[in-house]
Amino acid sequence: MAKLKALGGNKKPRGKHSLEHKSLFDSLVSNAINFLTFSIRDFKTRPKYSIIHFCSGLEIFLKARLLQEHWSLILKKPDEASFTQFQKGTFNSATMDETIRRLQNVVGDIFTGEELQCFQKVRDHRNKVVHFYHTAYTKKASDKLLEEIAAEQCKAWFYLHGRITGPWRQRFLQYQARIGKLNNRLHGHRIFLKAKYTALKSEISKKLAAGVEVINCSSCGFNSYEAAEIGGPFYEGQCLVCTARRSFLRISCPKCNEESDIDDLTNASCDNEDCESVITLDDVLKKYTPPYDPRDGDESPLSYCASCEHPEESVIPLNDEYVCCMCRKWYENVEECNWCGMTIAGFDPQFSALYGCFLCEEAAREHFDRM
Ligand SMILES: [Zn+2]
Ligand SMILES: [Zn+2]
Ligand SMILES: [Zn+2]
Ligand SMILES: [Zn+2]
Repeated sequence: MAKLKALGGNKKPRGKHSLEHKSLFDSLVSNAINFLTFSIRDFKTRPKYSIIHFCSGLEIFLKARLLQEHWSLILKKPDEASFTQFQKGTFNSATMDETIRRLQNVVGDIFTGEELQCFQKVRDHRNKVVHFYHTAYTKKASDKLLEEIAAEQCKAWFYLHGRITGPWRQRFLQYQARIGKLNNRLHGHRIFLKAKYTALKSEISKKLAAGVEVINCSSCGFNSYEAAEIGGPFYEGQCLVCTARRSFLRISCPKCNEESDIDDLTNASCDNEDCESVITLDDVLKKYTPPYDPRDGDESPLSYCASCEHPEESVIPLNDEYVCCMCRKWYENVEECNWCGMTIAGFDPQFSALYGCFLCEEAAREHFDRM
């Protein structure tokens, strides 16, 4: 189990008991920034350490967000938590998977499938180089390997940066300048992808001529992201250079009407710099909810989503399927909770008469406790 030893950072060890919650958070964030800085420094000369440090930086940033919810949540076993041990830094910390699961379940953060896959890849790559000796990573790294690592880190940074400067911005406010510097330095990775972009240029021109939409990739910055509509406002695609695979929503701004491509509906605004109006789930639903009239006894065609557990109805019927506008997960059907009667996508109603669903489980438990 990974042990978080240097909570106080390497340079300024602090008194064992003087650390308050706030400074614990600061220590974590400084550590995360340190790891990412080392990862960038080691990228070309010691790619193995770049991979390890990058993963640590990513993991600690996620844990810092979790710490703000409660310090015990970053421990492997929160129920056996001791604050004294925690302050000393002698504890087994949660794995990256556990951290993400708690961010989803406790904090209510939404991670798309692509983001989860991307973070898992970073973690698997770290495990691979930590546990086994690979000469490819120790001698002078090949251009191909550097290209692969650059792509992986650009993609993961895109997601992490999106969080810490987007929905989590307020929580990391005093670090925005340092995060901005990291962002600039990580864009330096793009140089290692330039050769690939040049090699692909004629293929991209051919695609453009054939009417394929190619836009700027938000991970690697090259004009190499092949995008296609998959239904309604939902778009999907892949970058030909860094292989980032992403889905997004394309919606016209309710204020200025300009089309905006949105990665995260919890923190979305219009792409038009003169407008920058906030765009919300409601704006998407207003446009894409099929017409129905409750006065005629029509039921709402919208459902809740059991995957991301968004507290409002976020699933719309589209092209004979159902799709959640928040986490962009597609479903073949929707089910009804036998306890509260709500319509939910991605939900198995089998035992719901007893246990309810994510919306009503507390009420169901209280009800049966009283019996
Ligand atoms: Zn790319
Ligand atoms: Zn606008
Ligand atoms: Zn969802
Ligand atoms: Zn229910």
